[in-house]
Amino acid sequence: MGGLFTGIALRAAGHDVDVFERASDGLQSRGAGIVAQSNVREFLETHGIAPPKTLTTTTSRRQYLNRDGSVARDLTERMAFTGWDALYRELRDAFPDARYHTGRRTVDVDPGDDRAVLTFEGGSTVRADLAVVAEGGRSTTRDRLVSGVEPDPAGYVAWRGVVPEGDLPDGVRETFDDVFVFYEGEDELILGYLIPGPEGGTDPDERRLNWVWYDDVGGESDRRRLLTDEGGESNEFSVPPGRLRPEVSAELLAAADDRLPSVFADLVAATDDAFVQTIYDLTVPEMRFGRVCLLGDAAFVARPHTAAGTAKAAADGDALADALDTGGDEPRIEDALRKWSSDRVDEGRRLVEQGIRMGEGYIG
Ligand SMILES: Cc1cc2nc3c(=O)[nH]c(=O)nc-3n(C[C@H](O)[C@H](O)[C@H](O)COP(=O)(O)OP(=O)(O)OC[C@H]3O[C@@H](n4cnc5c(N)ncnc54)[C@H](O)[C@@H]3O)c2cc1C
Repeated sequence: MGGLFTGIALRAAGHDVDVFERASDGLQSRGAGIVAQSNVREFLETHGIAPPKTLTTTTSRRQYLNRDGSVARDLTERMAFTGWDALYRELRDAFPDARYHTGRRTVDVDPGDDRAVLTFEGGSTVRADLAVVAEGGRSTTRDRLVSGVEPDPAGYVAWRGVVPEGDLPDGVRETFDDVFVFYEGEDELILGYLIPGPEGGTDPDERRLNWVWYDDVGGESDRRRLLTDEGGESNEFSVPPGRLRPEVSAELLAAADDRLPSVFADLVAATDDAFVQTIYDLTVPEMRFGRVCLLGDAAFVARPHTAAGTAKAAADGDALADALDTGGDEPRIEDALRKWSSDRVDEGRRLVEQGIRMGEGYIG
């Protein structure tokens, strides 16, 4: 996402941009929901990608449930949501195929004072006035730029899933109609909202219900067990949809039945391909290294409670395009990049701290 937001913003500002993506056969969606923050909606509109009301579902209320399913609190709040798959497809379609190079894994970067050199698996290189590393939280190229930056696990996980609206059990659809619904238990929080279908459709027969259950699953050994997938592979940070072991899926269902209001337990039970990710924080000291910039999750990962990941990637890219619009000579570009890094580092730190505070409030 960060690579595409930045590529689109830089192209619109007149720059000559190529995107290099390590995946060779398209990105497999995790199919899950994203809060469509206003800057993302503005980005889509400004760049002629999608008018504001398409691609998004909305709610006008937030409700907190009691364990028995009754409403504990009902607040007026307007929110907009989208789906990762639909948003990614729109951004990808807005970037020219000829400049989007798949199967190109970066293995090294040389950040010079007036140019950057990227090296790809297989040994080919690309020289550019500016390289942007938008490799996500597990970026390996980041290690070539700054040492000692590691994801810092928060000690809890997010179980996630989506269910087509047409497959929802009786009573579930009504609960989520126009409402962003939460349940806070002891050391856990589950929330759900409707998102567009995989193609971005927002009609009731196209939408999906997205849920996220933050759960303090116990100690390190419990987490390690949950993160071992059905192929027996021990994953460090997540198990993708369809890869949970059957016994883990059964535990998830039993826990939902035992601990959640029935509307959420029914929702979890109706989910075919639940998945799990560990929650972690990540911060870098700076985002600019000569003519190389780090952005999006490669620079800062704020906990999902902030609903900031995609919006931050878009804002980083937009701000970079604005910063480079100096109309000036080399020294001004260096100053612009330095200022961009300083501003975006401040914002990244603020969001990471906000995520930690929110997580501690929910999970204890
Ligand atoms: C396949 C996928 C599905 C996702 N689904 C969801 C979702 O459903 N809900 C949600 O909230 N968030 C999801 N996310 C995360 C969300 O996209 C990011 O948190 C946010 O948009 C910030 O984007 P980013 O560009 O910084 O990182 P990412 O979106 O993680 O993108 C990083 C990209 O860099 C590529 N890459 C990594 N290393 C290299 C390398 N060495 N060389 C070349 N390319 C490399 C990756 O293949 C990936 O395409 C998903 C991410 C991915 C990659």
